[in-house]
Amino acid sequence: MFRRTKIVATVGPACSSEEMLESLIKAGVNVFRLNFSHGSADGHRTVAKRIYATADKLGTNIAILADLQGPKIRIARFTEGKVTLNNGAKFILDADMDEESGNESAVGLGYKALPQDCRDGDTLLLNDGLIEMKVNHIQGNAIHCTVVAGGVLSNNKGLNRMGGGLTAKALTEKDLEDIQTAASMNVDYLALSFPRDATDVNEARTLYEKAGGKGGIIAKIERAEAVADNTNLDQIILASDGVMVARGDLAIEIGDAELVGVQKHITWRARHLDRFVITATQMMESMINNPQPTRAEVSDVANAVLDGTDAVMLSAETATGDFPEATVRAMDRIILGAERSYQMRDQLDNQWKQDNRTPSKIDESIASAAMFMANRLTGVKAIIAMTETGATPRMMSRIRSGLPIFAFTPHAYCQRKMAVYRGIQTVHFESANIRPEQINQRVVDLLVELDVVKAGDKVILTKGDYVNVNGGTNTLKVIEVGGVIH
Ligand code: PGA
Ligand code: MN
Repeated sequence: MFRRTKIVATVGPACSSEEMLESLIKAGVNVFRLNFSHGSADGHRTVAKRIYATADKLGTNIAILADLQGPKIRIARFTEGKVTLNNGAKFILDADMDEESGNESAVGLGYKALPQDCRDGDTLLLNDGLIEMKVNHIQGNAIHCTVVAGGVLSNNKGLNRMGGGLTAKALTEKDLEDIQTAASMNVDYLALSFPRDATDVNEARTLYEKAGGKGGIIAKIERAEAVADNTNLDQIILASDGVMVARGDLAIEIGDAELVGVQKHITWRARHLDRFVITATQMMESMINNPQPTRAEVSDVANAVLDGTDAVMLSAETATGDFPEATVRAMDRIILGAERSYQMRDQLDNQWKQDNRTPSKIDESIASAAMFMANRLTGVKAIIAMTETGATPRMMSRIRSGLPIFAFTPHAYCQRKMAVYRGIQTVHFESANIRPEQINQRVVDLLVELDVVKAGDKVILTKGDYVNVNGGTNTLKVIEVGGVIH
């Protein structure tokens, strides 16, 4: 059965060999994420080549997403590598302290402006929220805290302020270099960490395009400011090609209890605004060390699918975990189960009816008319979109339906871009040497060969007047398989 929702897997030491990449692709990965928070530019370049070569060998299209580190705020290092902090203990975060000399009472800071961004009474969360501190007072560049929830704190751990409000710019010096690297690697997507608003996204896009980057931009939604009001969130979404619900950092900034509602809201807004959405972090966390997911994880993945996410993402599960392949297989199985349920089909239909669009462009009107008809006319088994850019299939895949959408394109890069879109399967198709009046017949024949349709089925097809012209979709055809096709 065709799986509609896509899987993004983070590459790391546990899966970067050719053998592992191949088994993960076979298990169902559609997109690999290269995490620029770790590793070197040369390392990423080597792995990217290996991914593309492996996908080629397997005759499939896998997209690569380069994920910038962004202004992740980190403490510096400890003389002993780590310390144990007890509840109630006093601890100082000191921007003036030597970066290697942390101890049980104080540590230096990678982000020197933190003392200016903090206020008395603030809550600071370290190590993904495992350790909590309350700010008592700030003296010069030293933040004096009391440990509320203690534990082991080791070198370079991340730090978040509950409620957000840190002034760090979205792009660091390292990000500027990594943008150049990503552009020269010809990746399919560039993910931007911690953008505050659309201006941050536009700035990254401009730099990336100047560097020759051709991929799409993904804004990671992980700051409290980004979701503080609907207008700002919508503007970030519209400035991007797709967004990521980056639950790791977002949960810390807004609180884990708020996260679920916000996740559903982002998913809905992204779909509504014709952008794709990736749901990320801790989806199968226990599978880092266990061969089976917990019930809660199964439920988390399935609910993201039911809510309409385009893709679900794996982080440490595939990058450093003990069971990368089993994790991808489990995710594949859970997604298929959720997509099969009749409850889902009913729910899809309801949401689809509510989503009353008024298209403003010709291709948009064709995309929504195609889906309108596909969801109503009996006997339709597939939708075909002939595309140069993937724009029409993307619009189609925002509107829910149980039918497969086949995007026919001559461009491999376009096929890779569509790897993250929900419900889209791509077919490499060169139409330049086919007589125009024979193209429809060829396309339908291909679907018969692929065993998707048979005589008597109906197919909906969209295309433009000319091949190799962008944004030209203006035609919608309903075709009966087996009849005479023009
Ligand atoms: P990260 O982003 O893994 O790069 O931190 C995802 C998240 O914050 O959830
Ligand atoms: Mn993050």
